[in-house]
Amino acid sequence: MDISRLMTHAEPIEEEKLKEVPRMTKKDRTENGSYFDNTSVPKYHKDKKAPPQFVPSILASNINYQPHKLDQASWKPNSSGEFSCSSAWELIRDKRSKTRINSQTWHKHIPFKCSFLLWRALRGKLPTNKKLISFGKAPAQCYCCHRAGLDTIDHIFVSGNFARKVWSVFSDSLGISKEYTPLRNLMMRWWSSNYSIEVHKLILQATPIFICWNLWKNRGAIKYEGKQSNITRVIYSVFKDNFNLLSTTYSYISWPNSWKELVLLVEKCTNEVNVSTVYWRKPSAHMVKLNTNASALHNPGKIGGRGLLRNNQGDLLFAFSTPFGEGTNNQSEILAAIFGLTWCLQLGYTKVILEVDSELVIRWIKHLAQQPWTVKAQLQQLQDISHHFQVFKCSHTYREANFTADALSKHSHKCTTPHIYLTKQELPKEARAYFELDKLEMANFRRRRLKRIKKPP
Ligand SMILES: [Zn+2]
Repeated sequence: MDISRLMTHAEPIEEEKLKEVPRMTKKDRTENGSYFDNTSVPKYHKDKKAPPQFVPSILASNINYQPHKLDQASWKPNSSGEFSCSSAWELIRDKRSKTRINSQTWHKHIPFKCSFLLWRALRGKLPTNKKLISFGKAPAQCYCCHRAGLDTIDHIFVSGNFARKVWSVFSDSLGISKEYTPLRNLMMRWWSSNYSIEVHKLILQATPIFICWNLWKNRGAIKYEGKQSNITRVIYSVFKDNFNLLSTTYSYISWPNSWKELVLLVEKCTNEVNVSTVYWRKPSAHMVKLNTNASALHNPGKIGGRGLLRNNQGDLLFAFSTPFGEGTNNQSEILAAIFGLTWCLQLGYTKVILEVDSELVIRWIKHLAQQPWTVKAQLQQLQDISHHFQVFKCSHTYREANFTADALSKHSHKCTTPHIYLTKQELPKEARAYFELDKLEMANFRRRRLKRIKKPP
């Protein structure tokens, strides 16, 4: 490669850069020997006073000063705090916002050729006669209908007699309006229809794509293979494409061999539900158990935490409900644990089991998952506190086994001061009910809707 060509580009850039950042001279050095960019940072260090307008924000910022550790830089665009080229690229690239019509055109189980055809049709990039007119060809009639119209994208896919009949067969069975609207709006009408279950959504997404594909195939068969326009063939092909799609996506269900039965089955399918029993267990002798939980209205937003400490008889030692200001859900989970553990230490309990219903937080505490930089400081604080206990264990529990902590105050993010409960009678009514059930180690049911679908009996 000719390097001199690159150099000519490099030189002006260097000059531009030099203009932006003035070269630092000995004059700009401060007393302690560090450099200051004299254009952007005012020299407040001389009288050792911070600019008054910044004082509140400096005081409010939480600096996790650890004298025994070296400072560490975190790359903010990555949750791990580590630099990566992909995150840097995401930061600088110009990106168009996602549109629904673009994302719905594609699906991993819909053949690429079908989606690509629709993508081209929506942009008018198909070799119909209308396109050829611009190259000097005479207007030509369509290939699909008995009473012919013009060979245009709108006629082939939407407004033509043949296309309208095909659309109406499928619109009728899925309860979608048949009124004329341009192709783009027609697709959005299908894609924004109400659906009951994922498989129903898939059918609504795929059917209009398959209809367009088969209408185009029909045109090609007449134009290039000398076949007759045939509505039964097109309708059957659309059904078959849907059948193949469902058979690949949900291979454990045997799908019926007719469109009507297929639609009926899709509408009757439900998600499988997994039901299991979960318990709150009393801790072993000499141990106490702290259950904590976070409360947040929005994520991120105003956050709060609550929790309760119980002994091996299931009796209440103390409970709390407190606001934490602004933050994320995960931050409030960790802060609730810190708040509870600090109280444990103050009251002299040194053998404690911490139970949290966020599995991710437990994985962070146990170093089983990489800690994001956003919560590293709080996790470090939690770890420092845990070293003060004789015995410290932490484990994950299901939300259904943590209802008592959950019911303490649903709105702990709304109150302004911490609330401490020392006797069972002080607890809110709902929390007291769950507390009594926990004391009996009563089972709770955990129901989870699975992605897997179930064929109706
Ligand atoms: Zn036609």
